[in-house]
Amino acid sequence: MIPVTKPFLPPIEEYQKYLTGIWQRQWLTNMGPLASDLEIKLKQHLGLNHLLFVTNGTVALQMAIKALDLKGEIITTPFSFVATTSSIVWEGCQPIFVDIDKDSLNIDASKIEESITDKTTAILATHVYGNPCDVICIEKIAKKHNLKVIYDGAHAFGVKVNGKSLFEYGDISTCSLHATKLYHSGEGGLVITKDKEILKKLAFIRNFGFNGPEAFSELGLNGKNSEFHAAMGLTNFFHIQTIHEKRKELTEFYDARLKGLHAKKPIWHKEGTLNYAYYPIVFETEELMLACMEGLKGHEIYTRRYFYPSLANTLPYLEKKNFEITDDIASRVMCLPLYVNLSLEEVELICRLLLRIQNN
Ligand SMILES: *Cc1c(COP(=O)(O)O)cnc(C)c1O
Repeated sequence: MIPVTKPFLPPIEEYQKYLTGIWQRQWLTNMGPLASDLEIKLKQHLGLNHLLFVTNGTVALQMAIKALDLKGEIITTPFSFVATTSSIVWEGCQPIFVDIDKDSLNIDASKIEESITDKTTAILATHVYGNPCDVICIEKIAKKHNLKVIYDGAHAFGVKVNGKSLFEYGDISTCSLHATKLYHSGEGGLVITKDKEILKKLAFIRNFGFNGPEAFSELGLNGKNSEFHAAMGLTNFFHIQTIHEKRKELTEFYDARLKGLHAKKPIWHKEGTLNYAYYPIVFETEELMLACMEGLKGHEIYTRRYFYPSLANTLPYLEKKNFEITDDIASRVMCLPLYVNLSLEEVELICRLLLRIQNN
C-alpha cells in the first residue's frame, strides 16, 4: 500500500534521549526548556528574529486574527485547507473569497481590490503547496487601503523569496508543524511577526492573557505546546536537510517520468525557493484525473484531491458561491504520494501506471 503521505519518524533513540531529560526535570509543558530551545533553533534556521511555538497551525491563525484585533471582512482564498476559512469565522469575522490565479493557484492579487469594502480589515492568503503568494503586490494593496496581512504558511516551511524567509512577509505569518507536514513536531504550529508589540501580544494570548501570576493584559487562550511535542520538533530538526534532499530527489524523478502526462504543475514564484512539500498536478480534464485516481487505487496507491471542493461552495456555515478558476482547478487537481520513505521504484511504478491509464 502506498499512502499519499506518511509522517517522518526519526530513529526512536534520538527521541528517547529528550524524554530522559523531561523525566529528570519533571517540566512537561508551559514554555519549557525544550520548547524554548526549539524556538531558538527554528529562528536561526529560518533566519527570523521572532517566532512562537504554539499548539497547532489552526490556533496560530486564530491567535493572529485576535492579535491584530480584526473585525468585519477578511479577504481570503477559497483554495486552501478548511482551517484558513474556519479560523476567520471562529474569530467572528466574515471571509470574503477572491478567486485564484490559474497558474500559481494562490489568491489572484489583481482581483483583491475590487472586493475591498469599508468593512474590510485584512487579507488572509495561503501560500498554496508552499508556493509564495504575490507578496509584493499584496503588500502594496494592503498599504494603500490600510489593511493587515496574514499569511497561512502551513505549507511553506523553509521557503525563501527574494532572498529572505517567506515568513517575513505580512503582519503575521503562521505555519503548521502537524505530523503530515514537511517538518513536524507531531502537533504544532508557529506564529511569526517582525513587530515586537504584536509579538508581545501574541505571547500573552498564547498563555491565557497572563501578565504575571495574578494579572492579565489580553483576552487569551491556551496556545502553548508541550515538551513532548518540542522534543519531536527538536529530533526532526536535525533531519531537515535529509528530508529536503529526499523529497527533492523524488520530485525530480516524478518530473522526469511524467513529461508525457496530460497535466501541469502549478507555476512557481520566480523568486521563490522550493520546499517539496507536495506533488500537485492539475490534469487537463476531471475525467482523466478521476480515471488516474481510481486506477491507482486499484493498485493500493492513494492520492488526494487536495484541495477539493472549493471552500466557497461547501461549508455549511457560509453562503455558497462559485468561482470560475477555483472550481475548475479544484475539479482537476490531485496530489501524488510524497514522503521520505517513498522509494524511487514506487515512484517509477506510480508514473508507469499513470501513463498507462492515460493512454488506454
Ligand atoms: C495543515 C493546515 C492548516 C492547519 O494546521 P494544523 O496544525 O493541522 O492545525 C492550516 N492551513 C493549511 C493550508 C494547512 O494545510
